[in-house]
Amino acid sequence: MVCVQCGSQTRVVNSRWQKRANQVWRRRQCQDCGAVFTSEESAAYGASWAVKSPSGALKPFSRDKLLLSLHRSLQHRKTALEDAGGLADTVIGRLSGAVTDGTIESRAIISASQVALNRFDKSASVHYAAFH
Ligand SMILES: [Zn+2]
Repeated sequence: MVCVQCGSQTRVVNSRWQKRANQVWRRRQCQDCGAVFTSEESAAYGASWAVKSPSGALKPFSRDKLLLSLHRSLQHRKTALEDAGGLADTVIGRLSGAVTDGTIESRAIISASQVALNRFDKSASVHYAAFH
């Protein structure tokens, strides 16, 4: 990866695996100007998982869509976006076991979201249940 400031070559000075998010963070430093920045590597779930709706239609899995649906139910919290991000990673981690031939039922995503919200914030869970 090249430097975000000057385009020169960079080297990795630190890296960390975020188990829950199945993501790797790397701290990079430019060998020319010395700028430091972070890069992230995460699994492309959208390319690997197809979500099957009750009607049978298939759509690529979207972490953003999951994040937004969780966020809607967490809006009463000051840290709603952060919380939704953490919960989205938790839900994705649990969903891995529910994937068959690259396909996952939309109701499995809804039920995993419901369980995660219920443990985290009861009123968010009630809100979510009303919309799904
Ligand atoms: Zn640079």
